[in-house]
Amino acid sequence: MRQKTTVKWRLFFCMMAFSACVIAFLWGMQILFFDEFYYQSTQQRMQFTCDQFFRTSTEDLANRSEELAVKRQFSVLIYVVDESSGTTSEVCSNILPGSALTVLRHDKDRLNRIYAKAYHEKNGYMLHFNLTESGELVETDAPGITPWPSDTDSDLLSERMALAMFRSNAEGKMLYILMDASLAPVSTTVSTLRLQLVVLSCALFVISVIIALSLSVHLSKPLRKLNNAAKELAAGNYAADFQVNGGYCEVNELSETLSYAADELGKVDRLQKELLANISHDLRTPLTMIIGYGEIMRDLEGENTPENVQVIIDEATRLSSLVNDLLEISSYQAGNESISRESLDLSTVVQDVCRRYQHLKERGGYTILFEGDENTLIFADKKRILQVVCNLMNNAINYAGADKTVIVRCTKAHGNVRLSVIDHGVGIPEQELSNIWNRYYKVDKTHVRGVTGSGLGLSIVRRILELHGARYGVSSKVGAGSCFWFELPEYTQQEPPLLDTPH
Ligand code: ADP
Repeated sequence: MRQKTTVKWRLFFCMMAFSACVIAFLWGMQILFFDEFYYQSTQQRMQFTCDQFFRTSTEDLANRSEELAVKRQFSVLIYVVDESSGTTSEVCSNILPGSALTVLRHDKDRLNRIYAKAYHEKNGYMLHFNLTESGELVETDAPGITPWPSDTDSDLLSERMALAMFRSNAEGKMLYILMDASLAPVSTTVSTLRLQLVVLSCALFVISVIIALSLSVHLSKPLRKLNNAAKELAAGNYAADFQVNGGYCEVNELSETLSYAADELGKVDRLQKELLANISHDLRTPLTMIIGYGEIMRDLEGENTPENVQVIIDEATRLSSLVNDLLEISSYQAGNESISRESLDLSTVVQDVCRRYQHLKERGGYTILFEGDENTLIFADKKRILQVVCNLMNNAINYAGADKTVIVRCTKAHGNVRLSVIDHGVGIPEQELSNIWNRYYKVDKTHVRGVTGSGLGLSIVRRILELHGARYGVSSKVGAGSCFWFELPEYTQQEPPLLDTPH
Protein backbone atom coordinates (compact mmCIF):
# COMPACT_ATOMS: atom_id res chain seq x y z
CA MET A 1 0.00 0.00 0.00
CA ARG A 2 1.31 3.44 -0.85
CA GLN A 3 2.34 5.49 2.17
CA LYS A 4 0.41 8.77 2.17
CA THR A 5 2.23 10.61 4.96
CA THR A 6 4.76 13.06 3.59
CA VAL A 7 8.29 13.40 5.00
CA LYS A 8 7.40 16.87 6.20
CA TRP A 9 4.50 15.69 8.34
CA ARG A 10 6.26 12.58 9.50
CA LEU A 11 9.20 14.69 10.71
CA PHE A 12 6.80 17.11 12.31
CA PHE A 13 4.94 14.36 14.16
CA CYS A 14 8.16 12.72 15.27
CA MET A 15 9.47 15.97 16.67
CA MET A 16 6.18 16.72 18.39
CA ALA A 17 6.13 13.23 19.88
CA PHE A 18 9.66 13.81 21.14
CA SER A 19 8.67 17.12 22.73
CA ALA A 20 5.60 15.48 24.30
CA CYS A 21 7.85 12.79 25.79
CA VAL A 22 10.21 15.41 27.21
CA ILE A 23 7.30 17.33 28.75
CA ALA A 24 5.77 14.11 30.13
CA PHE A 25 9.11 13.11 31.59
CA LEU A 26 9.52 16.52 33.22
CA TRP A 27 6.01 16.31 34.67
CA GLY A 28 6.66 12.81 35.93
CA MET A 29 9.92 13.71 37.60
CA GLN A 30 8.94 17.14 38.91
CA ILE A 31 5.34 16.56 39.92
CA LEU A 32 4.26 12.95 40.20
CA PHE A 33 7.33 11.52 41.82
CA PHE A 34 8.83 14.61 43.36
CA ASP A 35 7.24 14.17 46.81
CA GLU A 36 7.93 10.45 46.67
CA PHE A 37 11.61 11.14 46.03
CA TYR A 38 11.65 13.73 48.73
CA TYR A 39 10.11 11.39 51.35
CA GLN A 40 12.39 8.59 50.36
CA SER A 41 15.51 10.68 50.64
CA THR A 42 14.42 12.26 53.95
CA GLN A 43 13.63 8.81 55.32
CA GLN A 44 17.01 7.49 54.23
CA ARG A 45 18.82 10.43 55.74
CA MET A 46 16.98 9.92 59.04
CA GLN A 47 17.76 6.20 59.09
CA PHE A 48 21.38 6.93 58.31
CA THR A 49 21.56 9.47 61.12
CA CYS A 50 19.99 6.99 63.55
CA ASP A 51 22.59 4.40 62.56
CA GLN A 52 25.27 6.94 63.41
CA PHE A 53 23.75 7.39 66.88
CA PHE A 54 23.77 3.63 67.47
CA ARG A 55 27.45 3.60 66.65
CA THR A 56 28.19 6.48 69.04
CA SER A 57 29.05 5.85 72.71
CA THR A 58 26.35 6.88 75.19
CA GLU A 59 28.32 9.78 76.68
CA ASP A 60 29.01 11.29 73.26
CA LEU A 61 25.36 11.14 72.24
CA ALA A 62 24.51 14.66 73.46
CA ASN A 63 27.31 16.34 71.48
CA ARG A 64 26.69 14.21 68.43
CA SER A 65 22.94 14.88 68.41
CA GLU A 66 23.51 18.62 68.70
CA GLU A 67 25.95 18.54 65.85
CA LEU A 68 23.63 16.53 63.63
CA ALA A 69 20.58 18.54 64.58
CA VAL A 70 22.32 21.70 63.47
CA LYS A 71 23.72 20.13 60.33
CA ARG A 72 20.66 18.20 59.13
CA GLN A 73 17.89 20.10 60.85
CA PHE A 74 16.59 16.98 62.62
CA SER A 75 15.12 17.08 66.13
CA VAL A 76 16.24 14.13 68.25
CA LEU A 77 15.05 12.48 71.45
CA ILE A 78 17.10 9.55 72.77
CA TYR A 79 16.18 7.21 75.62
CA VAL A 80 18.17 4.41 77.19
CA VAL A 81 15.88 1.43 77.89
CA ASP A 82 16.51 -0.93 80.74
CA GLU A 83 14.83 -4.05 79.43
CA SER A 84 14.96 -5.93 82.73
CA SER A 85 13.09 -3.25 84.68
CA GLY A 86 11.21 -1.88 81.68
CA THR A 87 12.18 1.70 82.54
CA THR A 88 13.34 4.35 80.08
CA SER A 89 15.51 7.36 80.80
CA GLU A 90 16.04 10.29 78.47
CA VAL A 91 19.78 10.69 77.69
CA CYS A 92 19.64 13.49 75.21
CA SER A 93 17.22 15.79 73.51
CA ASN A 94 17.78 18.30 70.75
CA ILE A 95 14.46 19.65 69.77
CA LEU A 96 14.22 22.43 67.19
CA PRO A 97 11.34 24.91 67.34
CA GLY A 98 8.11 23.63 65.72
CA SER A 99 9.15 20.01 66.04
CA ALA A 100 6.54 17.25 66.52
CA LEU A 101 8.71 15.95 69.35
CA THR A 102 7.70 18.95 71.50
CA VAL A 103 4.17 17.55 71.57
CA LEU A 104 5.08 13.85 71.48
CA ARG A 105 7.45 14.15 74.39
CA HIS A 106 4.58 14.91 76.74
CA ASP A 107 2.11 12.50 75.15
CA LYS A 108 3.03 9.32 77.07
CA ASP A 109 0.30 7.21 75.48
CA ARG A 110 1.34 7.98 71.96
CA LEU A 111 4.98 7.62 72.89
CA ASN A 112 4.35 4.11 74.24
CA ARG A 113 2.29 3.12 71.23
CA ILE A 114 5.04 4.28 68.86
CA TYR A 115 7.63 2.54 71.04
CA ALA A 116 5.66 -0.73 70.78
CA LYS A 117 5.58 -0.48 67.01
CA ALA A 118 9.26 0.49 66.68
CA TYR A 119 10.25 -2.46 68.86
CA HIS A 120 9.38 -4.86 66.03
CA GLU A 121 10.65 -2.79 63.09
CA LYS A 122 14.29 -3.42 62.28
CA ASN A 123 14.67 -0.29 60.12
CA GLY A 124 12.56 1.85 62.37
CA TYR A 125 8.93 2.93 62.33
CA MET A 126 8.04 5.90 60.09
CA LEU A 127 5.24 8.32 60.90
CA HIS A 128 3.75 11.36 59.27
CA PHE A 129 2.15 14.23 61.15
CA ASN A 130 0.42 17.47 60.46
CA LEU A 131 1.22 20.08 63.06
CA THR A 132 -1.55 22.65 63.27
CA GLU A 133 -1.26 26.25 64.40
CA SER A 134 -3.18 25.42 67.52
CA GLY A 135 -0.33 23.03 68.48
CA GLU A 136 -2.24 19.86 67.65
CA LEU A 137 -0.31 16.94 66.20
CA VAL A 138 -2.46 14.93 63.77
CA GLU A 139 -1.12 11.62 62.56
CA THR A 140 -1.64 11.04 58.82
CA ASP A 141 -1.46 7.78 56.92
CA ALA A 142 0.03 8.99 53.71
CA PRO A 143 2.47 11.88 53.32
CA GLY A 144 0.49 14.95 54.12
CA ILE A 145 1.14 16.93 50.97
CA THR A 146 -2.01 18.09 49.28
CA PRO A 147 -2.01 18.43 45.49
CA TRP A 148 -2.96 22.08 45.44
CA PRO A 149 -3.13 24.70 48.19
CA SER A 150 -6.64 24.50 49.61
CA ASP A 151 -8.75 25.91 52.43
CA THR A 152 -8.10 22.85 54.56
CA ASP A 153 -4.46 23.86 54.66
CA SER A 154 -5.22 27.15 56.32
CA ASP A 155 -4.69 25.77 59.85
CA LEU A 156 -1.63 23.73 58.87
CA LEU A 157 1.62 24.90 60.43
CA SER A 158 3.97 22.24 59.13
CA GLU A 159 4.10 18.71 57.88
CA ARG A 160 6.43 16.41 59.76
CA MET A 161 8.05 13.09 59.27
CA ALA A 162 9.18 11.11 62.29
CA LEU A 163 11.25 7.98 62.76
CA ALA A 164 11.25 5.78 65.83
CA MET A 165 14.04 3.24 66.15
CA PHE A 166 14.91 0.70 68.82
CA ARG A 167 18.23 -1.04 68.89
CA SER A 168 21.32 -1.69 71.02
CA ASN A 169 24.27 0.65 70.56
CA ALA A 170 28.00 -0.05 70.35
CA GLU A 171 28.20 -0.46 74.15
CA GLY A 172 25.36 -2.98 74.22
CA LYS A 173 22.84 -0.55 75.72
CA MET A 174 19.33 -0.52 74.27
CA LEU A 175 18.51 2.87 72.77
CA TYR A 176 15.16 4.18 71.71
CA ILE A 177 15.58 7.08 69.27
CA LEU A 178 12.84 9.43 68.11
CA MET A 179 13.71 11.75 65.29
CA ASP A 180 11.67 14.28 63.40
CA ALA A 181 12.11 16.41 60.31
CA SER A 182 10.02 19.07 58.65
CA LEU A 183 8.35 18.34 55.33
CA ALA A 184 6.54 21.60 55.09
CA PRO A 185 8.40 23.27 52.22
CA VAL A 186 7.60 20.43 49.79
CA SER A 187 3.98 21.38 49.29
CA THR A 188 4.88 24.90 48.37
CA THR A 189 7.80 23.80 46.25
CA VAL A 190 5.65 21.33 44.34
CA SER A 191 2.94 23.91 43.84
CA THR A 192 5.45 26.40 42.52
CA LEU A 193 7.01 23.77 40.32
CA ARG A 194 3.62 22.77 38.98
CA LEU A 195 2.81 26.32 38.05
CA GLN A 196 6.21 26.73 36.50
CA LEU A 197 5.80 23.52 34.57
CA VAL A 198 2.43 24.52 33.18
CA VAL A 199 3.98 27.72 31.83
CA LEU A 200 7.09 25.87 30.73
CA SER A 201 5.07 23.15 29.00
CA CYS A 202 3.00 25.70 27.11
CA ALA A 203 6.13 27.57 26.05
CA LEU A 204 7.87 24.30 25.14
CA PHE A 205 4.84 23.22 23.12
CA VAL A 206 4.72 26.46 21.14
CA ILE A 207 8.50 26.43 20.58
CA SER A 208 8.36 22.76 19.59
CA VAL A 209 5.62 23.43 17.05
CA ILE A 210 7.62 26.28 15.53
CA ILE A 211 10.90 24.35 15.47
CA ALA A 212 9.24 21.14 14.26
CA LEU A 213 7.42 22.95 11.47
CA SER A 214 10.41 24.93 10.29
CA LEU A 215 12.73 21.95 10.58
CA SER A 216 10.41 19.59 8.76
CA VAL A 217 9.81 22.15 6.01
CA HIS A 218 13.54 22.84 5.77
CA LEU A 219 14.51 19.17 5.73
CA SER A 220 11.84 18.05 3.30
CA LYS A 221 12.31 20.94 0.86
CA PRO A 222 15.30 19.44 -1.00
CA LEU A 223 13.53 16.08 -1.15
CA ARG A 224 10.45 17.69 -2.69
CA LYS A 225 12.67 19.47 -5.19
CA LEU A 226 14.44 16.24 -6.12
CA ASN A 227 11.10 14.48 -6.47
CA ASN A 228 9.81 17.13 -8.88
CA ALA A 229 13.04 17.02 -10.88
CA ALA A 230 12.86 13.20 -11.00
CA LYS A 231 9.31 13.47 -12.36
CA GLU A 232 10.59 15.82 -15.06
CA LEU A 233 13.35 13.33 -15.85
CA ALA A 234 10.80 10.53 -16.11
CA ALA A 235 8.85 12.70 -18.55
CA GLY A 236 11.96 12.91 -20.75
CA ASN A 237 13.50 16.19 -19.65
CA TYR A 238 17.14 15.19 -19.26
CA ALA A 239 18.09 18.77 -18.38
CA ALA A 240 16.04 18.57 -15.14
CA ASP A 241 17.73 20.51 -12.35
CA PHE A 242 18.74 18.28 -9.43
CA GLN A 243 20.80 20.94 -7.66
CA VAL A 244 19.69 21.46 -4.06
CA ASN A 245 20.92 24.30 -1.91
CA GLY A 246 21.73 23.71 1.72
CA GLY A 247 20.68 20.07 1.62
CA TYR A 248 22.16 17.58 4.03
CA CYS A 249 24.86 15.08 3.10
CA GLU A 250 22.65 12.17 1.92
CA VAL A 251 20.40 14.46 -0.10
CA ASN A 252 23.41 16.14 -1.72
CA GLU A 253 24.72 12.73 -2.66
CA LEU A 254 21.33 11.73 -4.04
CA SER A 255 21.19 14.96 -6.02
CA GLU A 256 24.65 14.30 -7.50
CA THR A 257 23.70 10.71 -8.36
CA LEU A 258 20.47 11.82 -10.01
CA SER A 259 22.28 14.58 -11.94
CA TYR A 260 24.78 12.00 -13.12
CA ALA A 261 21.99 9.56 -14.05
CA ALA A 262 20.18 12.34 -15.95
CA ASP A 263 23.38 13.23 -17.83
CA GLU A 264 24.02 9.60 -18.73
CA LEU A 265 20.40 9.02 -19.78
CA GLY A 266 20.57 12.20 -21.85
CA LYS A 267 23.76 10.98 -23.50
CA VAL A 268 22.32 7.56 -24.32
CA ASP A 269 19.16 9.16 -25.62
CA ARG A 270 21.12 11.55 -27.82
CA LEU A 271 23.40 8.81 -29.08
CA GLN A 272 20.49 6.51 -29.74
CA LYS A 273 18.76 9.19 -31.80
CA GLU A 274 21.97 9.77 -33.76
CA LEU A 275 22.40 6.04 -34.18
CA LEU A 276 18.87 5.64 -35.48
CA ALA A 277 19.46 8.43 -37.98
CA ASN A 278 22.79 6.91 -39.01
CA ILE A 279 21.53 3.37 -39.18
CA SER A 280 18.53 4.30 -41.27
CA HIS A 281 20.93 6.16 -43.56
CA ASP A 282 23.33 3.20 -43.65
CA LEU A 283 20.52 0.77 -44.32
CA ARG A 284 18.96 2.88 -47.00
CA THR A 285 22.14 3.54 -48.98
CA PRO A 286 23.16 -0.06 -49.70
CA LEU A 287 19.54 -0.99 -50.29
CA THR A 288 19.20 1.79 -52.86
CA MET A 289 22.41 0.60 -54.50
CA ILE A 290 21.29 -3.03 -54.57
CA ILE A 291 17.88 -2.13 -55.98
CA GLY A 292 19.38 0.31 -58.49
CA TYR A 293 22.03 -2.11 -59.76
CA GLY A 294 19.49 -4.97 -59.81
CA GLU A 295 17.12 -2.91 -61.95
CA ILE A 296 19.92 -1.85 -64.33
CA MET A 297 21.00 -5.46 -64.75
CA ARG A 298 17.41 -6.54 -65.33
CA ASP A 299 16.47 -3.76 -67.76
CA LEU A 300 19.62 -2.98 -69.69
CA GLU A 301 21.29 -5.41 -71.92
CA GLY A 302 24.99 -5.95 -71.39
CA GLU A 303 24.89 -4.61 -67.78
CA ASN A 304 24.80 -8.04 -66.23
CA THR A 305 28.55 -7.82 -65.65
CA PRO A 306 30.63 -9.38 -62.82
CA GLU A 307 31.55 -5.83 -61.63
CA ASN A 308 27.91 -4.92 -61.15
CA VAL A 309 27.21 -8.20 -59.38
CA GLN A 310 30.22 -7.43 -57.12
CA VAL A 311 28.72 -4.06 -56.21
CA ILE A 312 25.50 -5.81 -55.18
CA ILE A 313 27.48 -8.39 -53.16
CA ASP A 314 29.56 -5.65 -51.45
CA GLU A 315 26.52 -3.63 -50.51
CA ALA A 316 24.72 -6.74 -49.25
CA THR A 317 27.82 -7.60 -47.16
CA ARG A 318 27.86 -4.11 -45.71
CA LEU A 319 24.19 -4.48 -44.81
CA SER A 320 24.76 -7.86 -43.27
CA SER A 321 27.64 -6.64 -41.11
CA LEU A 322 25.53 -3.75 -39.85
CA VAL A 323 22.68 -6.09 -38.96
CA ASN A 324 25.16 -8.44 -37.29
CA ASP A 325 26.50 -5.61 -35.14
CA LEU A 326 23.01 -4.75 -34.04
CA LEU A 327 22.19 -8.37 -33.27
CA GLU A 328 25.44 -8.75 -31.37
CA ILE A 329 24.87 -5.74 -29.18
CA SER A 330 21.29 -6.70 -28.41
CA SER A 331 22.46 -10.19 -27.44
CA TYR A 332 24.97 -8.57 -25.02
CA GLN A 333 22.19 -6.45 -23.65
CA ALA A 334 20.10 -9.57 -23.08
CA GLY A 335 23.04 -11.07 -21.17
CA ASN A 336 23.54 -14.01 -23.59
CA GLU A 337 27.28 -13.76 -23.60
CA SER A 338 29.59 -16.69 -23.22
CA ILE A 339 32.97 -17.58 -24.65
CA SER A 340 34.48 -20.94 -25.44
CA ARG A 341 38.25 -20.82 -25.28
CA GLU A 342 40.79 -22.81 -27.21
CA SER A 343 44.51 -22.42 -27.77
CA LEU A 344 45.28 -20.44 -30.91
CA ASP A 345 48.20 -18.68 -32.51
CA LEU A 346 47.21 -15.04 -32.71
CA SER A 347 49.80 -14.22 -35.43
CA THR A 348 48.38 -16.90 -37.72
CA VAL A 349 44.81 -15.77 -37.11
CA VAL A 350 45.66 -12.13 -37.76
CA GLN A 351 47.69 -12.98 -40.85
CA ASP A 352 44.64 -14.76 -42.28
CA VAL A 353 42.52 -11.70 -41.66
CA CYS A 354 45.11 -9.45 -43.31
CA ARG A 355 45.08 -11.71 -46.33
CA ARG A 356 41.33 -11.34 -46.55
CA TYR A 357 41.73 -7.56 -46.56
CA GLN A 358 44.14 -7.68 -49.51
CA HIS A 359 41.36 -6.95 -52.01
CA LEU A 360 41.28 -3.45 -50.49
CA LYS A 361 44.68 -2.84 -52.01
CA GLU A 362 43.39 -3.31 -55.50
CA ARG A 363 40.07 -1.57 -54.89
CA GLY A 364 40.92 1.28 -52.54
CA GLY A 365 44.67 1.55 -52.61
CA TYR A 366 44.95 0.53 -48.94
CA THR A 367 48.11 -1.12 -47.64
CA ILE A 368 47.76 -3.61 -44.82
CA LEU A 369 51.12 -4.41 -43.26
CA PHE A 370 51.54 -7.33 -40.90
CA GLU A 371 54.47 -7.58 -38.45
CA GLY A 372 54.42 -10.52 -36.14
CA ASP A 373 56.41 -12.77 -33.83
CA GLU A 374 56.13 -16.50 -34.07
CA ASN A 375 54.41 -18.79 -31.59
CA THR A 376 52.06 -16.20 -30.17
CA LEU A 377 49.82 -18.71 -28.45
CA ILE A 378 46.84 -17.51 -26.48
CA PHE A 379 43.89 -19.26 -24.88
CA ALA A 380 40.80 -17.51 -26.21
CA ASP A 381 37.56 -17.72 -28.15
CA LYS A 382 38.74 -17.71 -31.77
CA LYS A 383 35.51 -16.39 -33.27
CA ARG A 384 35.32 -13.50 -30.84
CA ILE A 385 38.98 -12.57 -31.15
CA LEU A 386 38.53 -12.53 -34.92
CA GLN A 387 35.63 -10.18 -34.41
CA VAL A 388 37.81 -7.88 -32.29
CA VAL A 389 40.62 -7.87 -34.88
CA CYS A 390 38.18 -7.19 -37.73
CA ASN A 391 36.48 -4.36 -35.88
CA LEU A 392 39.81 -2.72 -35.07
CA MET A 393 41.03 -3.14 -38.65
CA ASN A 394 37.77 -1.82 -40.10
CA ASN A 395 38.09 1.27 -37.94
CA ALA A 396 41.75 1.73 -38.88
CA ILE A 397 40.83 1.51 -42.58
CA ASN A 398 37.79 3.77 -42.16
CA TYR A 399 39.80 6.42 -40.35
CA ALA A 400 43.15 5.87 -42.12
CA GLY A 401 45.00 8.95 -43.30
CA ALA A 402 46.27 9.95 -46.69
CA ASP A 403 48.88 7.16 -46.68
CA LYS A 404 46.02 4.61 -46.49
CA THR A 405 48.25 2.34 -44.47
CA VAL A 406 47.27 0.12 -41.61
CA ILE A 407 49.90 -1.73 -39.60
CA VAL A 408 48.90 -4.82 -37.63
CA ARG A 409 51.52 -5.90 -35.13
CA CYS A 410 51.47 -9.07 -33.06
CA THR A 411 54.26 -9.26 -30.46
CA LYS A 412 55.26 -11.19 -27.36
CA ALA A 413 56.47 -9.41 -24.23
CA HIS A 414 56.65 -10.25 -20.51
CA GLY A 415 54.53 -13.36 -20.83
CA ASN A 416 51.84 -11.58 -22.82
CA VAL A 417 50.82 -11.51 -26.46
CA ARG A 418 49.99 -8.03 -27.66
CA LEU A 419 48.10 -7.06 -30.77
CA SER A 420 48.29 -3.46 -32.04
CA VAL A 421 46.38 -1.99 -34.96
CA ILE A 422 48.01 1.24 -36.09
CA ASP A 423 46.91 3.87 -38.58
CA HIS A 424 48.19 7.33 -39.52
CA GLY A 425 44.79 8.90 -39.87
CA VAL A 426 42.71 11.61 -38.22
CA GLY A 427 43.40 10.48 -34.69
CA ILE A 428 41.12 10.99 -31.70
CA PRO A 429 41.08 14.05 -29.40
CA GLU A 430 42.32 13.18 -25.91
CA GLN A 431 39.06 14.14 -24.20
CA GLU A 432 37.16 11.69 -26.42
CA LEU A 433 39.43 8.72 -25.72
CA SER A 434 37.44 7.40 -22.78
CA ASN A 435 34.11 7.83 -24.59
CA ILE A 436 34.82 5.94 -27.78
CA TRP A 437 34.34 2.59 -26.00
CA ASN A 438 30.80 3.56 -25.11
CA ARG A 439 27.87 2.22 -27.01
CA TYR A 440 26.66 4.42 -29.93
CA TYR A 441 29.52 6.88 -29.51
CA LYS A 442 31.02 8.57 -32.54
CA VAL A 443 33.65 11.29 -32.35
CA ASP A 444 32.51 12.94 -35.54
CA LYS A 445 28.76 13.27 -35.25
CA THR A 446 28.29 14.27 -38.88
CA HIS A 447 27.68 11.08 -40.70
CA VAL A 448 29.90 10.40 -43.68
CA ARG A 449 29.04 7.78 -46.19
CA GLY A 450 32.00 5.59 -46.94
CA VAL A 451 33.16 5.69 -43.39
CA THR A 452 30.49 3.31 -42.25
CA GLY A 453 29.95 2.44 -38.67
CA SER A 454 27.16 2.05 -36.23
CA GLY A 455 29.11 3.37 -33.27
CA LEU A 456 28.81 -0.12 -31.79
CA GLY A 457 32.10 -1.63 -32.98
CA LEU A 458 34.31 -0.58 -30.08
CA SER A 459 31.69 -1.33 -27.46
CA ILE A 460 31.52 -4.89 -28.85
CA VAL A 461 35.33 -5.03 -28.79
CA ARG A 462 35.41 -3.85 -25.21
CA ARG A 463 32.83 -6.41 -24.05
CA ILE A 464 34.65 -9.31 -25.75
CA LEU A 465 38.00 -8.26 -24.29
CA GLU A 466 36.47 -7.88 -20.85
CA LEU A 467 34.98 -11.37 -21.14
CA HIS A 468 38.51 -12.62 -21.83
CA GLY A 469 39.96 -10.60 -18.96
CA ALA A 470 42.28 -8.89 -21.45
CA ARG A 471 44.05 -5.57 -20.99
CA TYR A 472 43.26 -3.12 -23.77
CA GLY A 473 43.61 0.53 -24.68
CA VAL A 474 44.29 3.17 -27.26
CA SER A 475 46.88 5.85 -27.79
CA SER A 476 46.12 8.53 -30.31
CA LYS A 477 47.18 11.94 -31.53
CA VAL A 478 44.96 14.18 -33.60
CA GLY A 479 46.28 14.32 -37.15
CA ALA A 480 48.97 11.71 -36.49
CA GLY A 481 46.93 8.55 -36.09
CA SER A 482 45.86 5.97 -33.55
CA CYS A 483 47.08 2.73 -32.07
CA PHE A 484 44.44 0.37 -30.66
CA TRP A 485 45.85 -2.57 -28.71
CA PHE A 486 44.96 -5.48 -26.48
CA GLU A 487 46.99 -8.00 -24.50
CA LEU A 488 46.29 -11.58 -23.44
CA PRO A 489 48.52 -13.89 -21.41
CA GLU A 490 50.75 -16.09 -23.52
CA TYR A 491 49.46 -19.64 -23.38
CA THR A 492 52.04 -22.23 -22.37
CA GLN A 493 50.90 -25.84 -22.28
CA GLN A 494 52.43 -26.36 -18.82
CA GLU A 495 50.33 -23.73 -17.19
CA PRO A 496 46.68 -24.56 -16.81
CA PRO A 497 44.70 -21.75 -18.43
CA LEU A 498 41.96 -19.81 -16.72
CA LEU A 499 38.72 -21.52 -17.56
CA ASP A 500 36.27 -19.23 -15.85
CA THR A 501 34.64 -16.42 -17.73
CA PRO A 502 35.20 -13.00 -16.21
CA HIS A 503 32.15 -10.77 -15.90
P1 ADP B 1 32.00 3.19 -35.59
O1 ADP B 1 31.20 2.05 -36.08
O2 ADP B 1 31.33 4.51 -35.69
O3 ADP B 1 33.40 3.19 -36.07
P2 ADP B 1 33.16 2.36 -33.15
O4 ADP B 1 32.56 2.00 -31.83
O5 ADP B 1 33.97 1.33 -33.84
O6 ADP B 1 32.02 2.94 -34.04
O7 ADP B 1 34.08 3.63 -32.90
C1 ADP B 1 33.59 4.69 -32.15
C2 ADP B 1 34.21 5.99 -32.60
O8 ADP B 1 35.60 5.99 -32.29
C3 ADP B 1 34.15 6.19 -34.08
O9 ADP B 1 32.94 6.77 -34.47
C4 ADP B 1 35.33 7.12 -34.32
O10 ADP B 1 34.93 8.44 -34.10
C5 ADP B 1 36.33 6.70 -33.26
N1 ADP B 1 37.36 5.80 -33.82
C6 ADP B 1 37.43 4.45 -33.74
N2 ADP B 1 38.55 3.97 -34.30
C7 ADP B 1 39.23 5.05 -34.78
C8 ADP B 1 40.48 5.23 -35.47
N3 ADP B 1 41.25 4.20 -35.82
N4 ADP B 1 40.84 6.49 -35.79
C9 ADP B 1 40.08 7.54 -35.45
N5 ADP B 1 38.91 7.46 -34.80
C10 ADP B 1 38.47 6.22 -34.45
